[in-house]
Amino acid sequence: MELERTPIYEIFDRKQSGNQLYIMREDLLPFSLGGNKVRIANAFFEDMQKKGCDIMIAYGNVRSNLCRVIANECFRKKIPCYMICSFEEGESEEKETSNSHLMQMLKVKIVKCRKNQIAETVEATMNRLIQEGHKPYYIYGNKFGTGNEGVSASAYAKAYQEILNFEKNQGIFFDYIFHASGTGATQAGLTCGHLLARDKKQIVGILISSREYERAVSIIETGMREYLKGLGKEFSMEDQKEIHLASEYTKGGYGQYDEEIEQCIREEFALNGVAMDGTYTGKAFLGMEHYIEDYQISGKKILFIHTGGTPLFYDWLGTQKKDLGRL
Ligand SMILES: *Cc1c(COP(=O)(O)O)cnc(C)c1O
Repeated sequence: MELERTPIYEIFDRKQSGNQLYIMREDLLPFSLGGNKVRIANAFFEDMQKKGCDIMIAYGNVRSNLCRVIANECFRKKIPCYMICSFEEGESEEKETSNSHLMQMLKVKIVKCRKNQIAETVEATMNRLIQEGHKPYYIYGNKFGTGNEGVSASAYAKAYQEILNFEKNQGIFFDYIFHASGTGATQAGLTCGHLLARDKKQIVGILISSREYERAVSIIETGMREYLKGLGKEFSMEDQKEIHLASEYTKGGYGQYDEEIEQCIREEFALNGVAMDGTYTGKAFLGMEHYIEDYQISGKKILFIHTGGTPLFYDWLGTQKKDLGRL
């Protein structure tokens, strides 16, 4: 799938922070409701094809945008698709979302497990399929979820080129790029793009889960090291300083959000006509606003990458029906 560059344009800054705010609409990527997972899934499918595998195994939870996109691509390519689906602590196994409904529609085979059983569930599923004579592809590599970091990082290392093209064509150069950081694939890719371009931008990932800071950074580092290795380049200690991960805006962990985030979602829709959600983009956008305040950033050109998650916006909207007069 050839992907056209998504729109980048200036938006209103509801906080009037004295910066120029731009948005890159990755939510408008033209497949399966868009989002960064369209590019990342593309990278996985290319790798899968290269390795000659015939069954896809994804991992995620009921909110997963990645699993939705992968399920969609598998359906149209007639590749059988399994999804190892974990549940957050205290979350019901019956929980459903727009993404989980779409996955059902796309005939994904769901294998449910608790969060502490992921490795054994992946292994059991892989072994069963191998015994049946298949060559399964697990998106994250081995049963512990490592080994494929370079593949997922490649997606946004390449997308970075599109940001550079925009800058060159428009004569607008960004000082900062902000985005929601979850698995770290997007951040690893963008930061590699920045290193390879040797430009002055600061890439700031806003951590959206309660993943421990050191571990989150080390996963981003692995993605960068693996991707750069594929280009015959080394990852140095200097490069490490280019990883900027803000872990103080997580609001208690993955999928958790509060009234401040909800207000941000309402106002961004009203002011800029952009749909965000409480798990990723709304949390990251608000985190960016706080970061700008906390680090007293002004007079800069700032790009927010809208990484998608449109179905999650509707999940949230469905909970708001009685309460939309609050704007
Ligand atoms: C997965 C996801 C992210 C986080 O991207 P990573 O590459 O996993 O860090 C951000 N926003 C949305 C909407 C996502 O689905």
